[in-house]
Amino acid sequence: MSERHASSATDDSTAPDLARRVSVLLPLPLEGAYDYRLPESLTLSPGDFVVVPLGPRETIGVVWDSAPGDVAEAKLKPVAEKLDAPPLSRELRRFVEWVAQYTLTPPGAVLRMAMSVTDALEPPRPSFGWALSEVGRAALTESESRALTAARRRVLETARDAPPLPVKELARLAGCGTGVVQGLERLGLLEKVPVAARLDPELPDWRHSGVALSPEQAEAAESLAAAVRRADYSVTLLDGVTGSGKTEVYLQAIAAALEAGRQVLVLLPEIALGVQWLDRFARRFGARPAEWHSDLTQAERRHTWRGVAEGRIPVVVGARSALFLPFPKLGLIVIDEEHDTSYKQEDGVIYHARDMAVVRGSLSKLPVVLVSATPSLETVVNVEQGRYRRLHLPARHGVAVVPEVQVIDMRRQKLERQRFLAPPLAAALETTLQAGEQAMLFLNRRGYAPLTLCRSCGHRFQCPNCTTWLVEHRFVRQLQCHHCGHLEPVPDSCPACGEAGTIAACGPGVERLAEEVTARFPKARLAVVASDTLTGPRAVAELVRGVEEHAIDVLIGTQVMAKGHHFPLLTLVGVVDADLGLSGGDLRAAERTFQLLHQVAGRAGREARPGQVFLQTYMPDHPVMRALTANDRDRFLQAELEERKRHGWPPYGRLAALILSGPDDESVDFAGRALARGAPHLRGVEVLGPAPAPLAILRGWHRRRFLVKAERAVNIQAVVRAWVAPVKVPSSVRVQIDIDPYSFL
Ligand code: ADP
Ligand code: ZN
Repeated sequence: MSERHASSATDDSTAPDLARRVSVLLPLPLEGAYDYRLPESLTLSPGDFVVVPLGPRETIGVVWDSAPGDVAEAKLKPVAEKLDAPPLSRELRRFVEWVAQYTLTPPGAVLRMAMSVTDALEPPRPSFGWALSEVGRAALTESESRALTAARRRVLETARDAPPLPVKELARLAGCGTGVVQGLERLGLLEKVPVAARLDPELPDWRHSGVALSPEQAEAAESLAAAVRRADYSVTLLDGVTGSGKTEVYLQAIAAALEAGRQVLVLLPEIALGVQWLDRFARRFGARPAEWHSDLTQAERRHTWRGVAEGRIPVVVGARSALFLPFPKLGLIVIDEEHDTSYKQEDGVIYHARDMAVVRGSLSKLPVVLVSATPSLETVVNVEQGRYRRLHLPARHGVAVVPEVQVIDMRRQKLERQRFLAPPLAAALETTLQAGEQAMLFLNRRGYAPLTLCRSCGHRFQCPNCTTWLVEHRFVRQLQCHHCGHLEPVPDSCPACGEAGTIAACGPGVERLAEEVTARFPKARLAVVASDTLTGPRAVAELVRGVEEHAIDVLIGTQVMAKGHHFPLLTLVGVVDADLGLSGGDLRAAERTFQLLHQVAGRAGREARPGQVFLQTYMPDHPVMRALTANDRDRFLQAELEERKRHGWPPYGRLAALILSGPDDESVDFAGRALARGAPHLRGVEVLGPAPAPLAILRGWHRRRFLVKAERAVNIQAVVRAWVAPVKVPSSVRVQIDIDPYSFL
């Protein structure tokens, strides 16, 4: 840390001296930047990271470009020190302001995302790691290792195979708690050793050659590479069926950016599931990219943030928050699966990473590539109206063909009791297994059963904190709330009527489906894949290997399994409840269901063996099912767009949601009435609500919603700001603003 300057040393003037004032934005939800006095000894420029006093403590902020105000000199406190870190670039500062304006969030709250790793702002400290000691090495030998618990052996093996690692990291890689590692240290099996400053791993090299592209692929790749070389703002939709080689094509654009010495950001929707992507990248460029997501250790975050800021890390693949990394020479942003709703951040600063990536591209004058087989309607309209360019890959690569999709009309099927696979799907599964191929059954419901009730009195198990039913998880023998995490054991008798043995499961979840497949095909090797069974990148990697090595015959999973994976032997996909996403009825229900099912279907028949897809549905005539079976995406998009246009919904109109919540429903209602009284009456603006949110109680908080619907030309941010700012709401009530809402819960 550099030397501090005593405040008295610089306290030499009482008249306002604007030249010796700086405006500093703090990473806190404050209205704007704060003014500080600039000590003689410091020279600062906008973007510099500084330590400043704030009340009784000190905090890190960024020197901002805004003009300082005329606060009395006596009230002004001096900047304490300048940190030794690359400054926050002008582009990133403008981006922070832009996002704040758009999302109606204080700029400091957005800044916090751009400086999420404050210890990266200081030069790296010497660090220590834990390595296998001589005793530890001996303990791992054949004769001794039997005395070790499985967890201890995993830790020792991990320590043997990896460089010295921090405790947490070692525990994480070995898949156990930190206590196990500490225990081994006490026993002298692990020892603490100093680690030299972490060497940068090998860097991706664009000179490695990729696959030979087909003429269509080559044309698209060249077009993207040209955009990269122009180094100017553009947005391109790379549109092509699953398996058409979109990834190969944009890897080529990445190569062009690396060749030009620029950095690259790739956003993936579910980064934990990007193992196959990472391997593929490494095969293409000879080294892995840096990763950025919530599953990193603090040391990894610090290392990556700093490496990015210093321009040493050329490629980052990450979740939406990677968009706020301080790249000094970004030359390309790729957003894979651009339609994916997980790009919308739903808490804290509520923003859509795809849309904000386009903004960053425009402010930093660089190309943005949106990739999808099922582009969002927003993007489709942007292409139609000429704002985005489109490159199209019409066919699957090589001999692979798009799988045949059939519906199973569940109204005509007779299911056996407590069975959920209709005879045609069960028969197809049998054929597939007999042929030595793999199958995937898709059901977007975790746990055993979505609803549990008492057969005698009808009592349903509801979450005490939320307006939802509890979901039975049979493997762990618990009822769980998927919203707040509430857990309770499955009771032996009904808590309402007291009768024993009457508790019954209603409907299927993936666990129950697994039970049925095991009963029908006792020899089939199953894997149940859901967000609660896949606990981290390691579990995902293991699963992927398992499928690739054909140690698994049937995958049963939720949407975490739907994305991206490429399994050559997987030829059958069965969607157990294709209608699931269509209930609930928010404005994107059909679009989302189409995208999801299309993606799920796209897992089948990705190589030489053709794929088959069955959709179990009670609505075989629904436009979504028709579009899927006819493989007619564009007709579906057009019909959906017309529907949106007719009602003035996005992308033809604008939406903003206001969510009021608080521990006490009277205060929340009071706030709702106050806001309703002040609601705008403007042409082209409609305010709906307040209404209880579908999740009227969440984690014990009562929730009410307003929806503002406006014509496209209306500045909806200005309308909402002018409406909400003067309304006094009780301090216990939280008002969240969601511009362009995707969730209506
Ligand atoms: P998408 O991203 O459109 O789903 P991918 O890029 O993942 O498609 O390609 C699907 C599969 O086909 C991958 O295994 C990929 O390596 C392979 N592939 C695509 N294009 C080529 C090509 N030109 N030569 C060899 N393999 C290719
Ligand atoms: Zn709950």
